[in-house]
This record gives sequence, C-alpha cells and structure tokens, in this order.
Amino acid sequence: MLPERAAPEPVAAIAAVPATTPFVAPEELARTAGLRDLLRLGANESAFGPAPAAIAAIGREAARTSWYGDPESRELRDALARRHGCAVENIVVASGIDELLGLAVRGYLGAGNVAVTTLGSYPTFNYHVVGFGSRIDAVPYASDGCVQLDALAGRCRATGARIVYLANPDNPSGSFAAAARVSKLAADLPDDALLLLDEAYADFVPAGELLAGAIDPRVIRLRTFSKAFGLAGARIGYALAAPEVVATFQKIRLHYGVNRPAQIAALASLGERAFVDGVIAEVNRGRDEYAALGRRLGLPTLPSLTNFVLFDIATRERAERLLDELLTRGVFIRKPGAPPLDRCIRVTVGTADERARFALILAEALGDLDTKR
Ligand SMILES: *Cc1c(COP(=O)(O)O)cnc(C)c1O
Repeated sequence: MLPERAAPEPVAAIAAVPATTPFVAPEELARTAGLRDLLRLGANESAFGPAPAAIAAIGREAARTSWYGDPESRELRDALARRHGCAVENIVVASGIDELLGLAVRGYLGAGNVAVTTLGSYPTFNYHVVGFGSRIDAVPYASDGCVQLDALAGRCRATGARIVYLANPDNPSGSFAAAARVSKLAADLPDDALLLLDEAYADFVPAGELLAGAIDPRVIRLRTFSKAFGLAGARIGYALAAPEVVATFQKIRLHYGVNRPAQIAALASLGERAFVDGVIAEVNRGRDEYAALGRRLGLPTLPSLTNFVLFDIATRERAERLLDELLTRGVFIRKPGAPPLDRCIRVTVGTADERARFALILAEALGDLDTKR
C-alpha cells in the first residue's frame, strides 16, 4: 500500500475552472446512445473531405512522419503570404484557431483583465480566458441573431477590456458583419485594446466583403484549414497580424506543435482552388436546400454565410427535445446554449445524400415531438 498522500493542488486560476467540456464529441454521444456511427452534422466539419491532392500528399509523405515538421512552417507561410498579399512576417501557423486563441489570450490579456465577447458565441475563447486567470464580459446577440458590434465596443470601454473577440462570420449564429462595420469596431476600441477577429468561415464569404488592405496592428485575424479546406482532423490554422504580434506568438507557441502531415496537406490544398471553390458552391446549394426544408416544415432559418444553418424550433425546451429525438435516430447536431438563439438547432451542410437523409429524419423527429408531448 502506498502511504496516504494528497494529489498536488493546481494553481488557483486552474482550480477555479469548472470541469465542463465545451463540446461533447460525436464519438462519445454514439457510445452513450449505443450507436455505431452517427450522421455527423454537428461540428461544422467539411462533408466534402480534403482536396484529393492533400490526401495524396499525406500518403506520399506518410513514411516521413518519423521526422518533425518544419517548426517555422516556412513553405506554407510563404504560400500564405502570396495568397494574402502580405509578408511572411505577418503570418504565424499553429495547430488550429483553437490554439491561436490561447496564444492571443496568453500574450495580450494578462491575468485579472477582462475580455469581451458575444454571449453564446464560439466558446473556446472563453475557456482560454478563464484558464489564464482572466474574466469574460459578454454582450448578447440582437433579437435577430446578429452580433452587436457597437455594444461590444461600448462594453470594452466600460470594462477596460484588453481584447474584444468577434467571430465573423459568427458561430453559432451564422451572421456576418460587412468589412466597413468591422473596421469601425476596430477604430472604436480604446488604444490599449485589440480586436481578435476569428475568421474561421472567411472562405464562405463572397470576395470583396472581407476586410481588405494593409494589416491593422490592433487586429489579429485568425484563419483555419478546418472548414472549407476539409482538414479539421489535421489541426492547422494561422494568424494574420502585425510583425510584432507574430513575433510574440512565435515566442510562446509550441515550437513543434504543428504536425508534419498537416503542413504538407495545407500546402497542397492551397494549390487546389477549383476543389475549394467546388466545396463552397456545394455548401451554398446546401444552405438553400436547408432554407427550403425549413419553409416546408414551418421552421424559420436564419441567414448564414457559413457551412451551417440555424433552424428556429420556437422554444429552448422544444429545441432540446428535438436534439434528443435526432440523436436517438442517429443524427449528431448541436444547438446554441444562450438566449436568444437557444431556441434553435444548428445543422452543418452535409453532402447531397446526407442532406436528403437529414430532411427525412427531421420531419419524422418533429412529428414524434408533437405526438409525445
Ligand atoms: C470551427 C471553428 C474554430 C476552430 O478552428 P480550428 O482551426 O479547427 O481550431 C474556431 N472558431 C470558430 C468560430 C469555429 O467555428
């Protein structure tokens, strides 16, 4: 027998973090429901896979997984600099936006300070803020599900916040603020605050509607290969920012955190514009189909510039029951957690076949929802 000894105490900031999981994984949901696999429409992954050239590149290089990747991701950063018309010093690559959010918080928020976000928006940012011993202040969505940019700036000034987080297009609302409004938000922030602009869905926004021009030193833009490029499982994304910000991230990021297959696949994907354009066109078609499905079933849908659509189920209680009914039928989706959007369910655009299956199952589940009450 070991002598009775207590486990070590974590540092105070971590001890204060509740042991909740931001996202229950579909694998876990399937295990709990006793199902082998699920119709996977809950995590906004691409239903259309990585570009064939990316798959081939991973295959070709698989044996060299015994090597570390280039810790500077230089080839990829050069290609990204060409794509965005900026310098390589404006780009830092990391293992997804989720890691970059943590680097921004660690590098620029500081323990005890406040960060402002939208209540119920992408939650990973909040987990980093709390985990580094800081506080979240949140502005609710407007009643139409749009982010209130002026209110974010106002709350930033009122609380002395150092970071304002904006997902644009937003998740889970799907709403989008045009470039002029985002520029105004950045300009409205006090000098000691920065705008952390999560552009995970930028690839789905029509060209010309995103921020253009020189990189604003007080704005950090985050991009990912997880959505339109179909590489969520590879874990790779990047920040577009001032050279000083990039240098700060370079100091604290995990030096070998971006794996070699991910670097190779991301680089190969950048050369596959036609494939990515095809994915975007199919996602647009899928969103229209979901809107038509909503009209047919009496469920209003919200406008979206992403690869998912919110269906309005009228009340939170009804939306939660529908989520359960769908899971019982083998469908994995998620729903927003905070009002006013918590009465909605969020459905990723699947392939044409997945959309057809979802349409049938949704109609059936809705029918049961009403007979079971
Ligand atoms: C999917 C998503 C992410 C995650 O990006 P990764 O690069 O896979 O970490 C970040 N932000 C938003 C708003 C997302 O929807």
